Amino acid sequence: MTPLAIDVVGLNKHFGHRHVVKDLALQVREGEIFGFLGPNGSGKTTSIRMLCGLLAPDSGSGTCLGLDVMTDSVLIKRQVGYMTQRFSLWEDLTVAENLDFIARMFGMRGRRAAVDAMLARLGLADRRGQLAGALSGGWKQRLALAACLLHQPRLLLLDEPTAGVDPRARRDFWEQIHGLSASGVSVLVSTHYMDEAERCHRLAYIADGRLLVSGTAQEVVQSRRLCTWEVSGELPPGLAQSLRSLPGVELASSFGATLHVGGRDAARLQASLEQALRGTGLAMREIPASLEDVFIDLMQGSAGPQGAAR
Ligand code: ADP
Repeated sequence: MTPLAIDVVGLNKHFGHRHVVKDLALQVREGEIFGFLGPNGSGKTTSIRMLCGLLAPDSGSGTCLGLDVMTDSVLIKRQVGYMTQRFSLWEDLTVAENLDFIARMFGMRGRRAAVDAMLARLGLADRRGQLAGALSGGWKQRLALAACLLHQPRLLLLDEPTAGVDPRARRDFWEQIHGLSASGVSVLVSTHYMDEAERCHRLAYIADGRLLVSGTAQEVVQSRRLCTWEVSGELPPGLAQSLRSLPGVELASSFGATLHVGGRDAARLQASLEQALRGTGLAMREIPASLEDVFIDLMQGSAGPQGAAR
């Protein structure tokens, strides 16, 4: 069996009376890219901060890189790379100065060579003299990645690393992540982007502090047993809303110029749709549920199998 970079169970965190992470159990294998999805405020950042030793869990147990998450936070912090949601480097230092500063903080030997190597590795060498504050969003995020890789962590915890970054920079970023994973670095990454979720080896969905499902994209989709129909044609306004109230319809949501309608009771869903669309000129065809359909379903908190698809 592949060794685990993260192996925790029963992690809880309260802020005052609010219980924001509830009995989190998570296993991330060494070298894999593990996606962390869920609505805003569902507890992803808090979970990541507990895993990297920045926030003490109220209860729970387990290991991160083989170190105890309850007692070894100082050692964990030194061995993981953590990229926060917001750019947190020094905007009035240059690209190279930022990395040099980080290398000093880690007390690294051979600082200059390490910084040069990292600049080359992430394609930042031409921009070494540029002020960090003057970089575009995509380059800032690349610099942030360079900063958290400098001390050669075996585990990267990336909190929405590509939020607000253009598609090309996002694609480049994911190529870097896949390269790191291929070299044995484990990655836990939170994201809202569905295409990014599909690039992860495995993923988990968290809502209101509770992990609802985890597994490969295929396992997650299969675990929800969602039948999905695509409705196309001249869709009248308000169609999704009216379909949602029909028996057997658990979700109805726009996908480009089409509508995806899903539910678990295949026969009732089909009967309702056929009746509702009769004489409208709209077409319907059954399609495999996508990861996005499943996340919409999870977000709505529909009934259905919620067991982990590990
Ligand atoms: P996510 O990353 O999924 O958006 P967070 O982990 O940031 O979610 O937040 C989970 C919940 O905990 C939110 O309701 C947030 O307001 C609350 N929260 C996060 N950090 C703190 C804090 N330091 N003090 C109080 N509440 C917090």
